[in-house]
Amino acid sequence: MGLTDAQYNTIMRDYQRQQAMNRQTLSQRRQEIYGRFPEFSRIDEAITSASLSCARSLLSDGSASVAALRAQIDGLSARRAEILRGAGYPEDYLAPVYRCPDCQDTGYIGSRKCHCFRQAAIELLYMQSNLKEILERENFSAFSLDYYAEDIIDPATGLSARQTALRTLEACRGFADRFDADFQNLFLYGDTGLGKTFLSHCIARELLESAHAVVYFSAFRLFELFADAAFGRGAADAPSEGEQHIFDCDLLIIDDLGTELVNSFVSTQLFYLLNERLMRRKSTLISTNLSLATFADTYSERIFSRISSNYTMLKLVGEDIRLKKKISNKTS
Ligand SMILES: [Zn+2]
Repeated sequence: MGLTDAQYNTIMRDYQRQQAMNRQTLSQRRQEIYGRFPEFSRIDEAITSASLSCARSLLSDGSASVAALRAQIDGLSARRAEILRGAGYPEDYLAPVYRCPDCQDTGYIGSRKCHCFRQAAIELLYMQSNLKEILERENFSAFSLDYYAEDIIDPATGLSARQTALRTLEACRGFADRFDADFQNLFLYGDTGLGKTFLSHCIARELLESAHAVVYFSAFRLFELFADAAFGRGAADAPSEGEQHIFDCDLLIIDDLGTELVNSFVSTQLFYLLNERLMRRKSTLISTNLSLATFADTYSERIFSRISSNYTMLKLVGEDIRLKKKISNKTS
């Protein structure tokens, strides 16, 4: 699951494109400001020349003028900020622009790959690019409680389907809002078509927008990858970057757990993965159509106990929303 040279080059080319776009944005902004405030270019020139004199003075012995030059630069910079502020621009409007401030769009922090590089790699490796399109549509603002009936009551809690959905929705929002502050894991369960995948998309979008590394897998695809990795190479080989990322990305979403063929290989891999992520304090979100009782029967006792003691259990009840949508589309 490592990157080929071609894939690596694709990612690096994207960084180069991004850097060119950043330079262009900055130069457009500069032209815009210079056009509106003719004084601005004179201030910038004065700052440049004062900075040069200052550097020259520091290199030679003329240190007497350094303090005066610095005061002059400070005064000019303050005037610059005042003009921007006065015209309603942010003060850093003419500062360098970066998509990822951590690596300044180079992909590297020192010799280490930046989190944005690893995210790009995972998107390329697992073709998650279609996820982005889905996330345009499926996000918290598009989530509707109208699909959950008020007259369907969950006998276990006495709450209606809508009350249950509201509770789960609020817990999901809280999870995303406090992601950096609280270490939490979610276990979303309930019948097919109740919006579990939709909610996991909402969370994924929220966290991707705040620059977190999110990896999304259907359970089926995830175990397929594990099987390829386990049987496709010798046991002594080190895990590739892609595999590493499954273990240490900020949030791993495993959708539809229980739809894969469960055997001892899957069970062992799943336990190892969940356990490893708990130890690294990396959050995991699991969704499943199985009831808790069936889940406990399907997977080993140790998996169930890890989940029940480390995950917030969130339920959805009601009628199949996809079915409801289809019916309402036909009748409208
Ligand atoms: Zn970065």
